[in-house]
Amino acid sequence: MTRMARFVDITQCIACRGCQVACKQWNQLPGEIGSFTGTYQSHNNLSPNRWTMIRYYEHKNSEGEMEWDFVKQCCLHCGEPSCVKACPNDALRKADNGAVVTIKENCVGCGYCEIYCPFKIPKIDQRAKKMSKCTFCLGRIGNNMEPACSKTCVTDAILYGPRDEMVRVAQERLQTVQGQYPKATLYGIDELGGLGMIYLLPDRPSKYDLPENPQAPLSLTLLKDVVQPAGTLALAGTVVGLAGAALLSWRNERMKGGDKKND
Ligand code: SF4
Ligand code: SF4
Ligand code: SF4
Repeated sequence: MTRMARFVDITQCIACRGCQVACKQWNQLPGEIGSFTGTYQSHNNLSPNRWTMIRYYEHKNSEGEMEWDFVKQCCLHCGEPSCVKACPNDALRKADNGAVVTIKENCVGCGYCEIYCPFKIPKIDQRAKKMSKCTFCLGRIGNNMEPACSKTCVTDAILYGPRDEMVRVAQERLQTVQGQYPKATLYGIDELGGLGMIYLLPDRPSKYDLPENPQAPLSLTLLKDVVQPAGTLALAGTVVGLAGAALLSWRNERMKGGDKKND
């Protein structure tokens, strides 16, 4: 199956937040009232009911005038997703079309996916003990429609298509914007097995809180290859121990019963 991806050209984004609203609308996520924090950013962070948002970075330029940078944030549907590896309950899987899919009924809300995601994307609903994040509009893309966010984007800052094609478009766009944005960077072509959302950023990734060289944390290997198997072994050991104790107790009872019969 063809791996699909989005290409998000931040040089074309006007921060209208249409994608943020379209995501809420299509996925029927309830609105949430935040508090004004003195910036144009609408909310502080992603949440179990907010799977994408536009982050604002405000600063003054050399003439002392306010300038804004912004970036669309949501799950990047990594080629090698740490969240899938970290989940102890098989509640996250990588689909052939590139989506990192959540299997809600398997999720126990433990939060390992959020801890180990290099972008801190998954959010846990503590009441329901379930994790939520962008689904890559699986129901739409499975029916040959594009995701709601790319469909709604008024400036075509978000494009959707086969990943190879998105990489080609991204590389072409980079050439065209370099005169205006000398520090323009492509992000996501090779990182973490190739991301399912490739950015064209006007500046360095760190300016948008994106790690320059994202890696799965070393402790993830420890968690997956040592701690969780040890936990399973310990559990298996406990089960075997309990079974052994039950067997002994049953044997003793039988022997007592046998003794009584022989009395
Ligand atoms: S809809 Fe497009 S232009 Fe508007 S905020 Fe989203 S990515 Fe930017
Ligand atoms: S961005 Fe985070 S939540 Fe999304 S696939 Fe990658 S590791 Fe998983
Ligand atoms: S792909 Fe769908 S779920 Fe993900 S941010 Fe876009 S609209 Fe929301």
